[in-house]
Amino acid sequence: MAKPTILIIEDEPAIADAICYALETDGFMTQCLHSGEQAVALLATGNFALAILDIGLPDINGIELCKQLRQSCDVPIIFLTARDAEIDRVVGLEVGADDYVTKPFSPRELTARVKAVLRRSQPRQNDVPGNSAFTIDADRYQAGFCGRPLELSRYEFLLLQVFLRRPGQVFSREQLMELVWDAPEASMDRTVDAHIKNLRAKLRAINSDLDPIVTHRGLGYSLREDE
Ligand code: CA
Repeated sequence: MAKPTILIIEDEPAIADAICYALETDGFMTQCLHSGEQAVALLATGNFALAILDIGLPDINGIELCKQLRQSCDVPIIFLTARDAEIDRVVGLEVGADDYVTKPFSPRELTARVKAVLRRSQPRQNDVPGNSAFTIDADRYQAGFCGRPLELSRYEFLLLQVFLRRPGQVFSREQLMELVWDAPEASMDRTVDAHIKNLRAKLRAINSDLDPIVTHRGLGYSLREDE
């Protein structure tokens, strides 16, 4: 599974380090900025799953920065605020932030908030039970793997859809041919094999560590279930 990257914009190095450490311990990747200067450009790259934004930055007020960010991207934002005043909270959420944490906070609490915000902000694709690396939108013929879109041919998409409906189940080539192809072809074993091979190559191009399609010698193929 590709690790989501969190951008931390916080000018106090001790706090920034503590946040990075807590997030990385929990399986995230992090990048830190100590001022707001490059934040808009960095977040526009689309490489970040979420931003943690300190309100008191040396060069720009975090609320102002949030407003600027919201004009060009909809990445989830969690504010860090030093003042517990209600006004900060209200203002913080009105400018389009997703949550806030008041200093001092425990890094563990912040990590929990990050996870909650990420869960809430998932795209409306159906999460696939049994193999969390995949998303599939059957109506649009769109599939995703490790958070990245998959460019699949019609048959590759339909094969993947069959696997995802029953993670762990072994399908023979005959079954796959029947479930996926409109008109069974003469050389069906090799047709299935060829499309499985292409599908695997596309999955490997996104994440070469996972090999979610399992070959069962003499039987067929299945999709690996989450451990
Ligand atoms: Ca600060």
